[in-house]
Amino acid sequence: MVTAVSSILKSLGEDSLRKELTGTPGRFVKWLMNFQSIDMDLKLNGSLSGGVDTFDPDREVNFKDRQIHCELNLPFWSQCEHHILPFHGVVHIGYFISEGFDPIAKSLVQSIVHFYGFKLQVQERLTRQIAETIAPLLLGGHVIVVVEASHTCMISRGIEKFGSSTATIAVLGHFSTDLAAKAMFFQSVASATTSRGQ
Ligand SMILES: [Zn+2]
Repeated sequence: MVTAVSSILKSLGEDSLRKELTGTPGRFVKWLMNFQSIDMDLKLNGSLSGGVDTFDPDREVNFKDRQIHCELNLPFWSQCEHHILPFHGVVHIGYFISEGFDPIAKSLVQSIVHFYGFKLQVQERLTRQIAETIAPLLLGGHVIVVVEASHTCMISRGIEKFGSSTATIAVLGHFSTDLAAKAMFFQSVASATTSRGQ
């Protein structure tokens, strides 16, 4: 891999033996290996057991008695698979929670976000994979996920302005039909975005 990067530098007209560049291929490869694709089961299985809102699957979900729990502004880094360039941003997650139940531990949610981020990705798939991993932890699997991201590939080509971001959304279960619940979630996202100063 290091040889391959040296060869890319040469193709760019650089002298890869130049003092300042000697460590560059190695550093690039080290960074790139952060995004190595690893089997999901190996990493998350342990932490996903021992469920959260675990319940009788036959129990009727009463949405009136349930609140929407929001995890907002979870940071992530990823690598656009079309250009092998970074994109990064924040993830917002909303789900119903019954009274007396604890929300999913924030550390678990953040590790799910990191897990799907640290690989070659497209933003839409990242959004869907986060939703599909969180859904089985919840009664009925009702979850909404929004990913806001800035893409180096788009900013550097002038398609996206610096500081702007692209939003994608994944909706599972009740959130696809309950417009009021969706609106409540978006309201929380909007106030979290305002407090981030955007
Ligand atoms: Zn790209």
